[in-house]
Amino acid sequence: MSSPLKILWVAAEVFPFAKTGGLADVAGSLPPALKKLGHDVRILLPKYACTKSQPIHSLNQEIEIGKTKATLFAGKLAEDVPVYLVENDAYFDREYLYGEPGSEYSDNAERFSFFCQAALKACKALDFQPDIIHCNDWHTGLIPAYLKAIEDPWYSKIRTLFSIHNLGYQGNFSMDKFPVTALPDRFSGPEGIEFYGQMSFLKSGLIFADALNTVSPRYCKEIQTAGFGMEGILQQRSNSLTGILNGVDYSVWNPATDRLIAENYGPGSLSQKQKCRDALIKKFSLKIDKNTPLLCMITRLSSQKGIDFLMEASEDLKNQCMVVLGEGDSKYENFFRELAKANPDRFAVALTFDDALAHQILAGSDILLMPSIYEPCGLTQMYALKYGTVPIVSSVGGLDDSIQPFDGKTGTGFKFVPDDRKSFKQALQNSMACFADKPGWERLINNGMDMDFSWDNAAQQYSSLFQDIQPNH
Ligand code: ADP
Repeated sequence: MSSPLKILWVAAEVFPFAKTGGLADVAGSLPPALKKLGHDVRILLPKYACTKSQPIHSLNQEIEIGKTKATLFAGKLAEDVPVYLVENDAYFDREYLYGEPGSEYSDNAERFSFFCQAALKACKALDFQPDIIHCNDWHTGLIPAYLKAIEDPWYSKIRTLFSIHNLGYQGNFSMDKFPVTALPDRFSGPEGIEFYGQMSFLKSGLIFADALNTVSPRYCKEIQTAGFGMEGILQQRSNSLTGILNGVDYSVWNPATDRLIAENYGPGSLSQKQKCRDALIKKFSLKIDKNTPLLCMITRLSSQKGIDFLMEASEDLKNQCMVVLGEGDSKYENFFRELAKANPDRFAVALTFDDALAHQILAGSDILLMPSIYEPCGLTQMYALKYGTVPIVSSVGGLDDSIQPFDGKTGTGFKFVPDDRKSFKQALQNSMACFADKPGWERLINNGMDMDFSWDNAAQQYSSLFQDIQPNH
């Protein structure tokens, strides 16, 4: 490896400290993979109500952002990666990370500009002068702007990488709130963080970071033409933008070692997967026989995830058996609730966030459905492969990059054209036909279980990105 670097990895959620989706999984597993490559990586996130269940301790270190104080806490991740947590109870000691399911806290601009400023203050207070601050999604988007604004030479050598995990979430707020960022006025115009009359924390990351990346090669291409209004900026920065497919943490997502599931199994012991299926069927009091595949979805219930499409295609789902785990917009929750009410023997829903249940559903189902309208990377389909659960996915973003259609010999799943009923119906039919052919199904399952999406390769790619933006490169 080229020279080891000091990296501060900043995110709004990090598994197991706080999680609402895939960003937390990445934050919990990429930094340890970078540490294995020799880098000194440390993580920073807010200290929420939910982080209290983790073994953390106060560092008795106070920082001040304007007149508001924060206290630093510390914990650890795999590979002894230090994790710093920013405590300010008024901002972060709340039941949810960003707001009630389907909504946002009204002071998110205040909360996350505070968090970004705290990240920079924390480095100095902890005497950790990073070569790189790795920023993730809009919550951290102001950090590159603050680094441009700051006059203290202590910060002058710090370079930034901004990773786009989901361009659909932009942190756009009324310009009236610009003063809460405490940025100089020159940042408030179109050359700064102004975006169609609002201010955008995401835009700040996109224009002020030294390098940009997103979490799959296909999504990297897609967002340069369909980028939620950011496509122009992304085209301009295309020389600094790359796509790196996320990895999987197999110490967390592996049916051979998973302590949260009914029975452990691997490619050589697939009969044990049947026991996980039996346990799941029992848990939800479903009445289905061996010859019927059990479908599942484990997802945030947001428009991105293709639930509007499923509502239109509900006729195609009518004869299926399915377990859904999800939390989010009430119209989607209602749709699934009604579906389960009308077909209690074949449909079950858990409208909550439950990590253990996510593992059990993945292990106990035959098929995972991901009909996303767009999908930056998607991790659940990669987890499903390891659990011998065959993905049916729309051919977008990372879903397209990570799943190859099964042709009877090679391939790991089934794909359909997003938002296309006919194509969806065909994919469903193909999967049903394949399920009925035992040797074919086993081959398909084994192909998936053989896939290796571990982080090593992606961590190498991040490592060379970091080197590329070093001042002496
Ligand atoms: P996204 O990041 O868009 O939410 P991903 O597929 O990348 O989608 O990652 C989703 C992660 O969140 C997976 O680890 C999945 O198991 C988890 N997840 C999503 N919804 C729930 C839920 N309701 N309960 C438990 N885990 C969930």
